[in-house]
Amino acid sequence: SEKIDKNPNEVIAKLIKLGVMASINQEIEFETAEAIATEFEIKIEKSISEVVEDNDLITIPIDDEKDLKVRPPVVTVMGHVDHGKTSLLDAIRNTSVTEKEAGGITQHIGASEVEIDGNKIVFLDTPGHEAFTTMRARGAKVTDIAILVVAADDGVMPQTIEAINHAKAAEVPIIVAINKIDKPGANPDRVKQELADRGVVIEEWGGDVISVPVSALEGTNIDTLLEMILLVAEMEELKANPNRSAVGTVIEAELDKGRGPVATVLVQNGTLKIGDSVVIGLTFGRIRAMLNAKGKRVKQAMPSTAVEITGFSEVPEAGDQMVVVDDDKTARDIVSKRKDKIKEEQIKKSQKISLDALYSQVQQGTIKELNLIIKADVQGSVEAVKQSLEKLSIEKVIIKPIHGGVGAITESDVLLASASNAIIIGFNVRPTSSATALAKKEEVDVRTYRIIYNALEDIQAAVEGMLDPEF
Ligand code: GDP
Repeated sequence: SEKIDKNPNEVIAKLIKLGVMASINQEIEFETAEAIATEFEIKIEKSISEVVEDNDLITIPIDDEKDLKVRPPVVTVMGHVDHGKTSLLDAIRNTSVTEKEAGGITQHIGASEVEIDGNKIVFLDTPGHEAFTTMRARGAKVTDIAILVVAADDGVMPQTIEAINHAKAAEVPIIVAINKIDKPGANPDRVKQELADRGVVIEEWGGDVISVPVSALEGTNIDTLLEMILLVAEMEELKANPNRSAVGTVIEAELDKGRGPVATVLVQNGTLKIGDSVVIGLTFGRIRAMLNAKGKRVKQAMPSTAVEITGFSEVPEAGDQMVVVDDDKTARDIVSKRKDKIKEEQIKKSQKISLDALYSQVQQGTIKELNLIIKADVQGSVEAVKQSLEKLSIEKVIIKPIHGGVGAITESDVLLASASNAIIIGFNVRPTSSATALAKKEEVDVRTYRIIYNALEDIQAAVEGMLDPEF
């Protein structure tokens, strides 16, 4: 009500109309809120910081718009091999190294920061889309802007296209750095044409993608590229709330001989402080020490800051989410629950389907389909079984013949069954001895019948939990 500036009673009335009997301080789902807002002709969006973790083990509060402050952009450099990703990152780092720092030791923490005219940009040090995609596959979104490096003497190559597709899939804006313009064979126009062919149309050509011709080797136009990053960042309106407990993502992690597990985390929201209790994927602990991208010890890290942290028991994985929780006990409890859940899932997964166990698997909801492989002595029988199966009236389980064939049950049938968690049914055929051995090893249920009716009866009984156990 507050956010859309409406009387709470009006909102409640609309909720009731939708069938939601809500009280004034009750939480409602986003979809419901959206429906209500639409009724008032207001468009609402999910806040970026609304991350509700695995079944409410951790609930991260949504920020109020008024608490959000502009934060620096986080940039990943992508592109084809040898097009100059590493050189470009080096060139960028060099622009911001002051004389004093140049002599010092820069510690590698997996991310670097540059500052131009008082504005910070964070670069993730692992170039390429593999790291980017691994993180995304794990549900982490850390990159705000992708720099697509294309060598002007080579043009768009397979990994260029991959990078484009990955950035597009993640809905991350692209800035094209046309590199190696110092080379005699450089042909930036060809690059632009090839990009346009791939749906990346640069501004000059009427599109909305910014491109900057650069030479990472000679340091040409690096400053312009940085300015463009800031420009795009401004358009993206990147914001976070520095005055709350921190949420972030692991960029790198390893076991250090002296310091134990260390991880570089990118703080994405809130401020991370020494002494904070954290949950990081499947590990937890309390932040003991923090190093910033310059290798300096710091006591706190604001949004869009990468810091190397220590103080937890196990090495987390890149892409793991880090969340600050109230205290150590909460952290420990959450991790132990997460581990239990993983164990449970593994057990469920490793449970092979069998007619004997089908009923309980259906009841537990671990099985929704019964995949069947049908082998028979004649094609007619295979067809007859398929048709009769379709006629079986079975709720809760979809019976799905995934393969049918004539002849003995072979190893290849067993492998297929194992891979697709299927049961093999044979009519007037037997498994070869090697197939029997493999089925035992792979725990594939193989049933042989002489009469189709008996098979159907067994399946029906199994689904209903009435199958007599086989001895
Ligand atoms: P990456 O595989 O994309 O990280 O590419 P690198 O940064 O390792 O660069 C590949 C090669 O291209 C190296 O030999 C670089 O020295 C060279 N290179 C990178 N940028 C430039 C450039 O702007 N001009 C020229 N002439 N060579 C470059």
